[in-house]
Amino acid sequence: MNIHEYQGKSILESFGVAIQRGKVADTPEAAHEAAVALAKETGTEWFVVKAQIHAGGRGKGVVTETGSHGVVLAKGLEHVKDKAAGILGGHLVTAQTSQDGKQVNKILIAEDVYYPGENEPSEYYMSVLLDRASGKNIIMYSPEGGMDIEAVAEKTPHLIFKEEVDPAVGLQGFQSRRIAFNLGLSGQGFKQMVKFTQALYAAYVGCDAAMFEINPVLKTSDDKIIAVDSKVSLDGNALYRHPDYAAMRDTTEEDPTEVEAGEAGLNYVKLDGNVGCMVNGAGLAMATMDIIKLSGGEPANFLDVGGTADAARVEKAFRIILKDPAVKAILVNIFGGIVRCDRVAQGVVDACKNMSDINVPIIVRLQGTNAEEAKKIIDESGLEVRSAILLKEAADAVADVLA
Ligand code: GDP
Ligand code: MN
Repeated sequence: MNIHEYQGKSILESFGVAIQRGKVADTPEAAHEAAVALAKETGTEWFVVKAQIHAGGRGKGVVTETGSHGVVLAKGLEHVKDKAAGILGGHLVTAQTSQDGKQVNKILIAEDVYYPGENEPSEYYMSVLLDRASGKNIIMYSPEGGMDIEAVAEKTPHLIFKEEVDPAVGLQGFQSRRIAFNLGLSGQGFKQMVKFTQALYAAYVGCDAAMFEINPVLKTSDDKIIAVDSKVSLDGNALYRHPDYAAMRDTTEEDPTEVEAGEAGLNYVKLDGNVGCMVNGAGLAMATMDIIKLSGGEPANFLDVGGTADAARVEKAFRIILKDPAVKAILVNIFGGIVRCDRVAQGVVDACKNMSDINVPIIVRLQGTNAEEAKKIIDESGLEVRSAILLKEAADAVADVLA
């Protein structure tokens, strides 16, 4: 599960990671108030106003309606409201969003941490992730932070370092020192980076993260090391252990049909093809998608209805599939093991009778317990539903209706 920058920073902070401090707001007025309160805490009246969307590249991104960037400086309390108004409510288009961009509902008012001082501020890149091949955690980092890390990887791959961490042992002191050394740090900055990486790794493990990406990690002009950005992705399967993190979910950032399907207990992923499919079991769903491709179609979705394919569930699944205007046919492929095929067939028939708005051909392939009875129910229903028992028959029927 992805969360917003401000939420990720609050998790990092709770594990002792030093962050760029800030307050979240959803109106220009609230942004001004947040800035006033923040100034009292930090002592600075220079701010950075940051759009909160589930996508990176905000600094270079542009808000369609106003032309503002997604991350802007406000050098003085009096500028915060206008800068906030330039971002809030607009659609921010970045290299990581679609052309339509993402609507900005919240902004983070943060302290400006690039203040001048004895040294120049430096930006580093750091991420923590699991390497499934080795079964180890990896801290990936680079002295070339702030900008596009993909470009660094392509042009100067030797500037990307990896520290492998055995999860049973944790991040050792010598490893943190190696990271600080490779980042070219010395003195106070070195010490702070050792502390930073230790806290960051503890946070990664402690919050059951799937991935952290902190770009940039900043060395301030007075040698503090802080997280300026935070891309935190949490392991959805571990959320039951963290109800407070589960509450951070922002469904407005997700595909609305997928959210609706999730609420109905259906496992749905939208794809770009023209044949909708409704299947029980993820393995069969994948096989069905292959069949659709072999028949000359493209799957419009992945949909696993799970074990209980009764009329209500089938109807819900049909409704979700049909929200996609690209769907030209629906293939139902259910293996009746515990759930008997005749019951599924009855569910399909009932759902079709309940729905007057199905305007695409439906092919139903039921195999397993009571498959023959099921075929009979479909064939005698008077509905324009084609039945099949063998996979080949279903595939031919799909090819037929697409022709
Ligand atoms: P992203 O573009 O979505 O990755 O958003 P970031 O949070 O990384 O911010 C983009 C860029 O804004 C950073 O790379 C910094 O260069 C800049 N930035 C962020 N915070 C500050 C700040 O406090 N002061 C200044 N001057 N620049 C900042
Ligand atoms: Mn960033």
